[in-house]
Amino acid sequence: MISTRIRVMQIQKKLDSAPFQLVAGHPALDLVNTLDWRFRPSGAEELLNNYADLLCFAEQSGLITPSEIQKLATSDPVRKRRSLSSTKRFRECLASILYAVVDGQAPPIDGVRSLSAFARTMRKSEDLEWCDSRLRWNAGGDRVRASDVPLRRLVSTALELLTSAEIDQLRACSNQECRWLFLDGSKNKARRWCDMKLCGNRIKARRYRSKQRMVDSQ
Ligand SMILES: [Zn+2]
Repeated sequence: MISTRIRVMQIQKKLDSAPFQLVAGHPALDLVNTLDWRFRPSGAEELLNNYADLLCFAEQSGLITPSEIQKLATSDPVRKRRSLSSTKRFRECLASILYAVVDGQAPPIDGVRSLSAFARTMRKSEDLEWCDSRLRWNAGGDRVRASDVPLRRLVSTALELLTSAEIDQLRACSNQECRWLFLDGSKNKARRWCDMKLCGNRIKARRYRSKQRMVDSQ
């Protein structure tokens, strides 16, 4: 049986190396991007392989604090597994909505229904409280399963984005096998790549190679 201390140390080691490329400008979009190469014909790559990965992602995204990790890492293993699979279901529900939006279509009805269900489940255990000069939804202590804390915060921040004008800035990477989502906050609205180093250069190199082939064959 692996000790709590070792488990927390393993997570800490991952955190120090910042394993996730958070380039989307919003945690909900970065979450969708954790199913990497989503549109690659040879298959996607899962970046959330266990609950520890989810904790790393949530911490790197600023949704949970390093001190919360210790508590979350030691929650019940069955609940952690369930929470991870709910988070992935939520991610795919978000993906179905966001890729429709970025393609200029209305989101699928099933996706919107599923998102409503996630929102309702979350709100059930929350109360409005006066905090820092405004009303906020706060989760009531015992009614919330510790393992679901990252998911709850992801649902909350995703709902804020989806119901705000910020969603107008939603774009997808121009690499058709990648299509990572991001918010284009640039002045001229000309951002094309999730990251120049990740996709931009790769596509440029491919174009250069095919141009070279054309020149060579002339
Ligand atoms: Zn990309």
